[in-house]
Amino acid sequence: MPQQRLFVIYAGGTIGMQAGPNGYAPTPGHLPAELARIAARTPGFPAYTLKEYAPLIDSSNLRPEHWNTMAADIAARYADYDGFVIIHGTDTLAYTASALSFMLENLGKPVIVTGSMVPLSEHPNDAEQNLVDAFHWAAQPQLHEVCVAFNRQLLRGNRSRKLWGAEIGAFGSPNYPILGRVQGHAEFNPALCLPAPRGPFALHTIDAGLHIAGLKLYPGYSVRMIERLLLSDDLAGVVLESYGAGNAPDADTALLAAFAAATERGVVIVNVTQCVSGKVSDSYAAGSVLSRAGLISGQDMTPEAALSKLYYQLSQPKQILGPDDLLSTSLRGELTPR
Ligand code: ASP
Repeated sequence: MPQQRLFVIYAGGTIGMQAGPNGYAPTPGHLPAELARIAARTPGFPAYTLKEYAPLIDSSNLRPEHWNTMAADIAARYADYDGFVIIHGTDTLAYTASALSFMLENLGKPVIVTGSMVPLSEHPNDAEQNLVDAFHWAAQPQLHEVCVAFNRQLLRGNRSRKLWGAEIGAFGSPNYPILGRVQGHAEFNPALCLPAPRGPFALHTIDAGLHIAGLKLYPGYSVRMIERLLLSDDLAGVVLESYGAGNAPDADTALLAAFAAATERGVVIVNVTQCVSGKVSDSYAAGSVLSRAGLISGQDMTPEAALSKLYYQLSQPKQILGPDDLLSTSLRGELTPR
């Protein structure tokens, strides 16, 4: 294989943090210097150009504007590089991987998002291994999608979730098999991966000012609070995390009326399960009431994928796409078609 050239975005996260007076914080220049040392001692490490963002962020500060910056940085260099690595904090990494999967249409090259639970500045750490793996996957010409490389696994980005907050294997892909793993040698299953695109690559920036809410059902929710949320100015979309197989209290007519009124006003509400894995189905009476109230089934999408897909979808010109047309359709492998 000819030498691959990668473009690397370093956005922040634990991976490049150092201990300071207020706790761990990213230090500019530290990760790029460490990465150069790792590249020098790792045989076959791909050539790369790195862009360090300023400021580097703890990814809990991430906003949708950052997705536009990252997607635009990739699009601007799309023709010049063979693959892309994004070094990111783990807290919102699954949201970024999901968002980029939608924003980069007809992606023909790997975009691999990684981070770590333990910074490079501490030993032992998971950071070096995650970086080496991410660079390896980003140099695979047979990968055509946004993936997460973490703890020796390769996951589809829009299927990934941070499931374990204190484990080195923090990420899982609860509703889709992992695409690949490193066990002695690195292997991925092409049958599970997205095929090479047929159309030309296209960047879709999102409207970062859209008002999209996340709402989780729980015993004891207040209908008045939910009504107020649904009536709030400029609310464009909601990701509802319902129970089990997409169920909601079918005895609560006030709640269902509030949902129905909101969807009639044009608020797009996507229903996903709050279970770690599983999907929304209409098999229970308590679930079908939500589709009758105008909610769209998110099927087996993760809440992270559903939220970023709403940003993507609601940012498209309305005359081209109606929001309900494609939310239940798999655009980038984010849901399992019925
Ligand atoms: N708070 C950190 C971040 O998301 C956590 C991490 O990177 O693991 O930036």
